[in-house]
Amino acid sequence: MNANIEELEITNCFGCAVCAKACPKQIIKTRINEYGFYEPYIISGDTCIRCGLCADVCSFHNAGLSLDVTRLDSFAGYSNNDSVRQRCSTGGVGFELAATALSQGYKVCAVRYNASNNIAEHFVASNIEELKYSVGSKYIQSDTLAGMMKMDINDKYILFGTPCHIDSFRRYLRKVKKESNFILVDFFCHGVPSYLLYHKYLDTKGQQTGKVKSVSWRDKTDGWHDSWVMDIRGEEGRVHAKLSDGDVFLKTFLSDSCLGKACYDNCKFKYRNSSADIRIGDAWGRLYQKDSKGVNAVICFTDKGTTLVKQSNCTLIDHDFDSIAEYQMKHNATRPLIFNLVWRLLKNDAPLDVVKLNRLLNINSILHIPGRIIKKTVKILR
Ligand SMILES: Cc1cc2nc3c(=O)[nH]c(=O)nc-3n(C[C@H](O)[C@H](O)[C@H](O)COP(=O)(O)OP(=O)(O)OC[C@H]3O[C@@H](n4cnc5c(N)ncnc54)[C@H](O)[C@@H]3O)c2cc1C
Repeated sequence: MNANIEELEITNCFGCAVCAKACPKQIIKTRINEYGFYEPYIISGDTCIRCGLCADVCSFHNAGLSLDVTRLDSFAGYSNNDSVRQRCSTGGVGFELAATALSQGYKVCAVRYNASNNIAEHFVASNIEELKYSVGSKYIQSDTLAGMMKMDINDKYILFGTPCHIDSFRRYLRKVKKESNFILVDFFCHGVPSYLLYHKYLDTKGQQTGKVKSVSWRDKTDGWHDSWVMDIRGEEGRVHAKLSDGDVFLKTFLSDSCLGKACYDNCKFKYRNSSADIRIGDAWGRLYQKDSKGVNAVICFTDKGTTLVKQSNCTLIDHDFDSIAEYQMKHNATRPLIFNLVWRLLKNDAPLDVVKLNRLLNINSILHIPGRIIKKTVKILR
């Protein structure tokens, strides 16, 4: 008799919901937990048939990666279509991979913004018009379940997700022997911030925006390297808040003060560790520091991945992995000294105290300076 995720006490996990997709009795759902992250729960334990599939497919519960990577091809890449490149977060390779897969009879399971609930969510796109909703990184955790449930695994799909989601999903595909129907794409992942931060932040902008209609996290009007922007359009107005002007959501996210517990303690997907066919990201390193339009790092771990990348409408330039992945995180994020104080602001019932949060973030960056100097000195001495 196998234990299910509840008996195994799988909480504060990656929140990918592949356990729920896999459950033959469909008795697993997900909800946002007290820390602001998705977590699975069982709705009627007495109907559980103890098949153990939920635990078997769980990347959080099982050690290692589901893909045994023996090779990789690495490129810089960007869409040949300038308007796609401009509108996407980086170089538009994500969009072009999906568009090429669509033209080959695949459907796309990707992430769009749901303005009714102010969440990111997976959805299925069957044509280019629907695919347009996937454009752009949403730097919040996606609610994966409804989108995944819409996928008939007997059809062909390209699935985009965080590395943990993709790793669980490959475990599931192996169990049901449908791996050949899927192309799996992840990205270099910083981690996801809490919905407590995101929703409280939106509330602080509510007077300006009214009911939110759309949100974008990146905007390349001032160039790719200055493209971290919260652009919130609402019924009553618009907020356009850049990281370089001190936007508090982006600052808090990138300070690692409120990522998921599993992002700090259990992520096993940094740098070249992936179970995807293709990994994409920003080529933030020195190679393209003068580019203003956006360049993707594109890593292929399987022949299937390389084939799709080469068929896509993208310019590709060969680079070795370490050069194209320069400045990507090699290790999991660590909790900064201000961590508990930030959580205290997020978990209380009061509106977000932006002044206090900014003060904490400023202290954090001052505390970081000695660390940066030591790191630079060690580098020079080496
Ligand atoms: C939470 C998060 C953290 C990231 N951390 C890093 C990082 O540390 N380093 C780095 O180089 N890149 C990171 N990225 C990836 C980067 O932001 C770009 O998404 C990537 O470079 C692809 O750009 P593009 O122009 O090809 O994609 P686009 O064509 O703009 O498409 C973006 C793709 O990302 C998918 N997507 C959007 N939001 C989410 C989400 N919340 N969850 C799952 N999939 C999503 C969409 O479905 C779409 O397929 C991160 C992305 C996210 C969402």
